[in-house]
Amino acid sequence: MTTVFGKIIRREIPADIIFENDRVMAFRDIRPVAPVHIIIIPKKEIPDLQSVSAEDLPLIGEMVAAAQQIARDLGLDEGYRLLTNNGPDSGQEVFHLHFHLIGGKPLGKIG
Ligand code: AMP
Repeated sequence: MTTVFGKIIRREIPADIIFENDRVMAFRDIRPVAPVHIIIIPKKEIPDLQSVSAEDLPLIGEMVAAAQQIARDLGLDEGYRLLTNNGPDSGQEVFHLHFHLIGGKPLGKIG
C-alpha cells in the first residue's frame, strides 16, 4: 500500500529533500517539532519497524548512517534524537517506516 512517503519517493508530491541515494531518502518534516526535524525513510515500502526482516537489516544500518551524516551536515554537535513510531499506541500516522531525526534545541528527557 502506498503512502504519502511513497509519493515523495516517486516525486508525485513535493518535499524538501536533503539526502538521497538509491536506497534511502531524507526530507524535512512538514510539521516540525524542533528547529531540525528530518524524516529518514527507506525507498523500500516497509510499513513499520515491526515489519523489518533480517534481510532488511543492512537497510536499517544505511538509515542510521544517513542520520549520522545529516547530523554532521546540519551541525547538530550538541546532540539529537532519532526515533520511530510503531503502531497505534505510538501515534504512527504514516505506514512507511521512518526515523524522525530531531534536534537544534535541548529536547528534554524522555523516559
Ligand atoms: P508518524 O506519526 O511517526 O507516522 O510521523 C509522520 C510524520 O510525517 C509527521 O511528523 C508528519 O508531520 C510528517 N509528514 C506527513 N506528511 C508529510 C509530507 N508531505 N512531507 C513531510 N512530512 C510529512
